[in-house]
Amino acid sequence: MTALNDIVPAGVVTGDDMTALMEYCRENEFALPAVNVTSSSVANAALEAARKAKSPVIIQCSNGGGGFALGKGVKCADSAAAGSIALAMHVRSVAKYYGIPVVLHTDHCAKKLLPWFEKLLEANEAYFAKYGEPLFSSHMLDLSEEPDEENIALCAKYFKRMMPMKMWLEMEIGITGGEEDGVNNEDVDQDKLYTSPEQVFNVYKALSPIGGLFSIAAAFGNVHGVYKPGNVKLSPERLGMAQTFAKEQLKSDLDKPLFLVMHGGSGSSREEINAAVKNGVIKMNIDTDTQWAYWDGVRQFEAGKHDYLQQQIGNPDGDDAPNKKYYDPRAWLRAAEESMVERLVVSIDQLGGTDTYEPTEIGAGYCMVGDFMKA
Ligand SMILES: [Zn+2]
Repeated sequence: MTALNDIVPAGVVTGDDMTALMEYCRENEFALPAVNVTSSSVANAALEAARKAKSPVIIQCSNGGGGFALGKGVKCADSAAAGSIALAMHVRSVAKYYGIPVVLHTDHCAKKLLPWFEKLLEANEAYFAKYGEPLFSSHMLDLSEEPDEENIALCAKYFKRMMPMKMWLEMEIGITGGEEDGVNNEDVDQDKLYTSPEQVFNVYKALSPIGGLFSIAAAFGNVHGVYKPGNVKLSPERLGMAQTFAKEQLKSDLDKPLFLVMHGGSGSSREEINAAVKNGVIKMNIDTDTQWAYWDGVRQFEAGKHDYLQQQIGNPDGDDAPNKKYYDPRAWLRAAEESMVERLVVSIDQLGGTDTYEPTEIGAGYCMVGDFMKA
């Protein structure tokens, strides 16, 4: 057992457990992977990787990912919220079986997506009324396209509503470059890709009187997506400057008073990730690299079994030989999952999370049906 096993239980963590987990990461200088999921299969792959690497994990879905999870055939105003909640319920149903701590989170929410955020808060409040904890552990608000003052004021407003449920808020100040989930920041003003220590501290000043459960995605040249080497200039030392500035302002005993988040982690080198973690990054988002790995599993499966995948009956073994066991989704989707697991285990290692949590085993009598609170 590791020390973290004594502090944080397996399963979905919220409230004080979530805070203990984030503080443990910051103190011990490692970060959790925040994996974007769009289906139960992708979510299971993320959980499997975390169990295999013996690390806690953050499972998150974006607005678009939520809509996909509900099903693209359904078009309604609440698609993203309904699908996000469905994914959260899936993770709550299975998390305990993987035996590691799981943070349930949602990704970027720009101003125009606030109706999605409001619906998620309603779901948290309903869940809280029933079970004494919110459905999700935390959410992200990304109002970085708005002027700082408005960004921070809106974050403070929602943070106040989340506090009675002890929910975490992740906010963004400065802009992550690149393109993700339909938001294109490829041509954004270069200055905005680097947040100043003063900007970061302004967030701290506004949110800390409400509560301490927040993290800041400050921009340090990071971009969404994977680009050719040399096109992205990361400056993780900027995160260190923000920590030092906050420490001085607060006269804090902590060298890193801030919880920082790194977006656009895909495509980053081990050294870049390490420098970010050393400067207080406790969460790194991974989407593009796991998307590729998931697809690559299918690609390799098809390449290896091509002649068995061209019709229902008939393959190199015989004209009447059936191909069902090759085109069954459990064959090729499993190949996708296995490929993603392998990739994510590498990310967890780069983040320093390997072997930080000894997975627990579920007793034979455990059944969570009808008992979501304990999930
Ligand atoms: Zn992001």
